[in-house]
Amino acid sequence: MRRRIIAGNWKMNKTPSEAVALVNELKNLVNNPEVDVVYCVPAIDIVPVCEAVKGTNVKVGAENMYIEDKGAYTGEISPDMLVDAGVSYVIIGHSERREYFGEDDEFLNLKVKKAIEKGLTPILCCGESLEQRELGITMDWIRMQIKSGLAGVDKKDVANMVIAYEPIWAIGTGKTATSDQAQEVCKGIRDCISEMYDKETSESVRIQYGGSMNAGNAKELLSKPDIDGGLIGGASLKAEFGDIVNA
Ligand code: PEP
Repeated sequence: MRRRIIAGNWKMNKTPSEAVALVNELKNLVNNPEVDVVYCVPAIDIVPVCEAVKGTNVKVGAENMYIEDKGAYTGEISPDMLVDAGVSYVIIGHSERREYFGEDDEFLNLKVKKAIEKGLTPILCCGESLEQRELGITMDWIRMQIKSGLAGVDKKDVANMVIAYEPIWAIGTGKTATSDQAQEVCKGIRDCISEMYDKETSESVRIQYGGSMNAGNAKELLSKPDIDGGLIGGASLKAEFGDIVNA
């Protein structure tokens, strides 16, 4: 049985002091021992949030990282810095990073491998645009993203990682994929991993849905057999996040 994982993606929201206030506001609302709860927070919030979640069930994630250990990469954050600060997860390949910062599958594959090498759990994002969905190429596109993103990654590492299926047209738009649409793609991802590795690996990897998940639709989405959790943007910044964790 795969353990559920509900992760918040705070994006570029919350100053350090606001971040600590949010952690404290959510503390009792997300206290569910049956679920892995993760806050993926802006880089500047990582240290205070790691401190603020001490003694709770919440783990901290980064929203991004660089592929080198150290050196002349102005503005970047290394995986060692994240680990030293107490980070456990890192989002890789969110559609906003792909779109606004030109991150491609080859580069994201290097990030996945580097994160694993350093003991961080990657949350590898994939998802189609509305145009791709309307053209009927959703699953071809997702399979390409999964195959490129996981190229050369050992099966034991794939088994422990997290994949987030996030249709781009559903992110921040208030339009959620139906639970059947989300299940179909999440199952397709699992089938793709089964073909690349084996059934055991595909049954172990955790697959989240993300895209306007909220307290109203979480239960239905999470009832689907191949949806093991959620990656939550807007609704992770308010008390509603607790309702999603408990859904
Ligand atoms: C996201 O950015 O990962 C996301 C799912 O955002 P939202 O929940 O706001 O659609």
